Amino acid sequence: MAKYEGKCPQCGKTHYSDRKEDTIICDCWLYCPLCGAEMVSYTPDLAADTYGKDGKRDFAIVMVCLQHSPPFYSVQKPVEVVRE
Ligand SMILES: [Zn+2]
Ligand SMILES: [Zn+2]
Repeated sequence: MAKYEGKCPQCGKTHYSDRKEDTIICDCWLYCPLCGAEMVSYTPDLAADTYGKDGKRDFAIVMVCLQHSPPFYSVQKPVEVVRE
């Protein structure tokens, strides 16, 4: 049994760890909140034709889901789970 547990402030998922020093990074930032597909790293080239349409700044976009039209841009960064 894991001794320590913490909840992701972003998605509410509970993570477990055996060691107190472990830093737990939730993987929810990798997945599209709309369809659940694994997103790809955003590069300006990839979506150059749609860049700027939704008003988001280029540098704020971390991941992109290409399942949508226009693609879904995620600005969520890896979330460090906060231990309780
Ligand atoms: Zn999460
Ligand atoms: Zn998606």
